[in-house]
Amino acid sequence: MTDAMERRVTEGWSRFADKVVRAGRHDSLPERGQFINAPVARGSTVIFPSLAAMHAQGHRTYDHEVIYGAMGNPNQHLLERLIAEIEGGSDCQAVCSGLTACALPLLAFTEAGSHVLMSDAIYGPTRRFAKTMLRRFGVETSFYPPMASKETLQSLMRPETRIIVAESPGSHSFEVQDVPMIADVAAAGQAKLIVDNTWGLGIFQPFAHGAHISVQALTKYAGGHSDIILGAVTVNAREDWVKLRDAAIQLGLCANPDESWLTLRGLRTLTVRLEKQALTAYRMARWLQSCAPVARVLHPALEDCPGHDNWLRDFSGAGCLFGVALRPEITDAAMRAMIDRLKIFSIGASWGGYESLVMPTSGGIVRDHTHHHQPGPAFRLQIGLEDPETLKEDLATAMAVLQ
Ligand SMILES: *Cc1c(COP(=O)(O)O)cnc(C)c1O
Repeated sequence: MTDAMERRVTEGWSRFADKVVRAGRHDSLPERGQFINAPVARGSTVIFPSLAAMHAQGHRTYDHEVIYGAMGNPNQHLLERLIAEIEGGSDCQAVCSGLTACALPLLAFTEAGSHVLMSDAIYGPTRRFAKTMLRRFGVETSFYPPMASKETLQSLMRPETRIIVAESPGSHSFEVQDVPMIADVAAAGQAKLIVDNTWGLGIFQPFAHGAHISVQALTKYAGGHSDIILGAVTVNAREDWVKLRDAAIQLGLCANPDESWLTLRGLRTLTVRLEKQALTAYRMARWLQSCAPVARVLHPALEDCPGHDNWLRDFSGAGCLFGVALRPEITDAAMRAMIDRLKIFSIGASWGGYESLVMPTSGGIVRDHTHHHQPGPAFRLQIGLEDPETLKEDLATAMAVLQ
């Protein structure tokens, strides 16, 4: 039996099932027939029948055409078309990792002297990129509390602010941001809004909510099998596409054909995997709320999650990654020992795959603002396709010694 919130958590996934099944396939079907799936096409050199033909093709750099291997390949382009459809954008650039997808628009839309305003709950390596490489090239980044009010956000804008970066829900702390409000502030300051939409792929429409650029770690839900690293940047305006595409070409960024092919294959089953994983994750979150050592569960579908109302308003479903904060009197060492006792949950980075994972999130994370920190030790769970009862039992057994 499912209650109303369980439906709310899962319903959005099946809504784009037709897209992930139909889009990104061959354009035409010849009389002689062909395999449903496009073959893997590896290549560097593209040859042409004449110099004129080569010259003409060389002018199609914004058209997802095959020109030279470093500028894209047929599998990459099919993947780009499918991601653009899911995100609701006009064009997508696939790149070699999610982190590269985070870095690329920061490079493409700033120059020396620019300022970037970034959510304090941003994915750690994106923060590191801003604080090291971007800074070296004269771009300054400051951080805003993810749940900042419109007034606070406006007060942090500078004349040279070119980009606001949002990530919703936030890494480790799961605040669901008010993206339409942030988009208003960005628009008023003539800045671009980048959203890292990895958790919300398909269940949050970034462009309908005012974003200019959406970033995806395809490594997560899209790959889905913990065996690829890939990323994507999607835009919805010609001028943004030209800037993004120029930067990708100048940096030689592309997505290799084998991984693009595997990611397309992963995407075909994304909606059914995530519908199941989202339901198990929500039920686990509810169950964890009743466990004695747990102080708070950070899952966007739970009422006390920061930004729960934003989630209700803007998302059509929930993902399979959430946070658990333990009571403050439990030590970090006790939590770590508990994690080591888990048998079904594997210890490891990343998420979005078919298997359940656990990672501590307290201790090592960096924030400029501290107001949203949990006082006790915390960890995050990625919920896979295992039997929910097995997962519960594993956690219950490991947590028993914490009481
Ligand atoms: C994993 C992740 C990334 C980076 O993706 P990789 O493919 O591992 O480089 C970026 N943003 C978010 C929110 C992520 O979870």
